[in-house]
Amino acid sequence: MENLINETLVFGHKNPDTDAIMSAMVMANLENKLGNNAKAVRLGNINKETEYVFNYLGIERPELIEDIADGQNIILVDHNESTQSVNNLSNAKVQKIVDHHAINFTTSAPLYYRAEPVGCTSTVLYKMYKENDVEISKEIATMMLSAIVSDTLLFKSPTCTTEDKSIAEKLANIAGVDVEVYGTELLKAGTDLSEFTPAEIINIDSKLFEKGGKRFKIAQVNTADLDSIFKDKVYFEAAINDEIKKDNLDLYMFAATDIINSNSKIISLGNDSAVVEKAYGVTLDNNTALLENVVSRKKQMLPGILDNLD
Ligand code: MG
Ligand code: MG
Ligand code: MG
Repeated sequence: MENLINETLVFGHKNPDTDAIMSAMVMANLENKLGNNAKAVRLGNINKETEYVFNYLGIERPELIEDIADGQNIILVDHNESTQSVNNLSNAKVQKIVDHHAINFTTSAPLYYRAEPVGCTSTVLYKMYKENDVEISKEIATMMLSAIVSDTLLFKSPTCTTEDKSIAEKLANIAGVDVEVYGTELLKAGTDLSEFTPAEIINIDSKLFEKGGKRFKIAQVNTADLDSIFKDKVYFEAAINDEIKKDNLDLYMFAATDIINSNSKIISLGNDSAVVEKAYGVTLDNNTALLENVVSRKKQMLPGILDNLD
């Protein structure tokens, strides 16, 4: 156990996306290059999009953990909110955080905190490699590029900055891939939902938030075919209502994001379901609405709810 504590565990948020997994591995690699003893782990299943990267590179998947030992040294990437982190986060020694989300983290101990308003954690990590003069291998470049493509929806998300794009181009060079071709294949891999039930689909990428006494979840899934998801609407509604009961939620918003047309169609349920009407200037029709030109949870979906929930 002592050994485990001396090793620093690096991980991204629960229901990990490609950035959460890849940035943890990339950050662990940087730490090891700088002489620390770090290991990437994960807090949930690997989704189909991320699976594409593992298959492409033929590398090992990080180990799944649920809890950590008391006093465990950890580094958080791609998140900072305790609701999205390991269950017993308060027992850990958080050494560092590298993130690109709004900050909702408190601690009494000093730590290294790096947050930048860019489209992806890996964009920040690229800069840290450069600052520390650590060489970026082909494999690491592919991992970072995959995270940037995923988080920015191949540069189409409003969260994408000029820095994300120019760094992605440099990484594509190192990785030896055409960014459009590789990126399209990667995103397409993530839209394959054929093996999943509605209850599983809503949990691929859902995040829990709290404001005041209110608890809400925003779940998101990428698709190239909104109709095939919404033909199962009643099953999605049943799964969402189960989550609302189980997690004692005031609102659950499920967003299916059309990565071809850059719109999201939502299902909103819970006592505060109507908040989305004010938040996005739409009218719910049978619990659903189309949010035109909305693709980003962080920049477009979440702020509207936070501003209108009381
Ligand atoms: Mg993420
Ligand atoms: Mg991210
Ligand atoms: Mg995401």
